[in-house]
Amino acid sequence: MSRSVFEIPLAGASPGTRRVLKVRRYGEPGARPKAYIQAGLHAEEVPGMLVAHHLCRRLDEAAAEGRVRGEILVLPVANPVGLDQVIDERLLGRFDLAGGGNFNRHYPDLAEPLAEALRGRLTDDAGENVVRIRSAMAGLVHDRRAVGAADALRTALLGLAITADIVLDLHCDDEALAHLYLGTPLWPEAEDLPRDLGTQLVLLAETSGGEPFDEACSTPWWRLRALLGGAAPIPAACLAATVELRGMTDVDDALAAADAERLIAVLTRRGALAGNPPPLPPWRGTALPLAGVDMVAAPSAGIVCHRAAVGARVRKGQVVAELVDPSVEDPAAARMPLFAGCDGLLFGRIQQRFARAGDVIAKIAGADPLPGKGTHLLTGV
Ligand SMILES: [Zn+2]
Repeated sequence: MSRSVFEIPLAGASPGTRRVLKVRRYGEPGARPKAYIQAGLHAEEVPGMLVAHHLCRRLDEAAAEGRVRGEILVLPVANPVGLDQVIDERLLGRFDLAGGGNFNRHYPDLAEPLAEALRGRLTDDAGENVVRIRSAMAGLVHDRRAVGAADALRTALLGLAITADIVLDLHCDDEALAHLYLGTPLWPEAEDLPRDLGTQLVLLAETSGGEPFDEACSTPWWRLRALLGGAAPIPAACLAATVELRGMTDVDDALAAADAERLIAVLTRRGALAGNPPPLPPWRGTALPLAGVDMVAAPSAGIVCHRAAVGARVRKGQVVAELVDPSVEDPAAARMPLFAGCDGLLFGRIQQRFARAGDVIAKIAGADPLPGKGTHLLTGV
């Protein structure tokens, strides 16, 4: 049976403690295509971990039946460091409490060191270039010196994923529709991914400016192509996406089993599993620029009273929430309306009902890039 489980020790633990990444491998090492799926990088985002659990059950069956054609790595718990962080009885797995930042930011940008290593060493054969580039990528990640537990985790995860053809990083938002983050150069070639996953919204950026995990795997391909000035053919050889599996509390066995089944369809359509994939569902969603997402932020602290549902189509200027400051002397002056900054789909909103100044209260996906967005398109450094 082509299935194994292995552990990668994580550096940076305190004396007397030990942390490992548990990796499930299906298929033979080096088989193609290679798919890499992880959950819980933001450790308090539970939906993906339950989906991974169901996915592993389905992949165990596939392995027992000899249907694994490529190599598939699954990490149902991608962040044991974050999963260990509890304050006030609450799991806090988005930021490293030891100061290492957001667990899904600050991944190394390999494009420039790759360009340095590979200039003059690529050929006219795109397939051969993919092999050479992957080998150089693996070497760079292997040689990376990590400082601290969070960075050791980043390096270990990237070491597993960087040579993959498909990388799916399972996350969730606060309260949200399912949506995908994808590199613009991967679109529309990757349209089968949201169609198989049943995702209605795809947010595209060439780079988002936050160095998230998926982009560390996907962007080096097109950034290297630009840096080498088109001297050799370089395909976008890694389909990497951040998959937002709705909201924090959308943790449900039936939903997760259905999501796992959708991932099986992706793995089959992309050739990692043998057999015929189910018919490709029609594409009824929209792919929009990440730079067109209006992050409606709280200008001051207050109780959050949402005025628009997740999934609502809103108009520019529409009130999407009100902030209530219960401490003001005149209750009639306690409410501050928050307005949509563009026409679009309200796809996410804050779960906590008391906001601090600057908190993002709602996210609205509009059709056009918004002025003044700058180069940092994601929340939470
Ligand atoms: Zn996340």
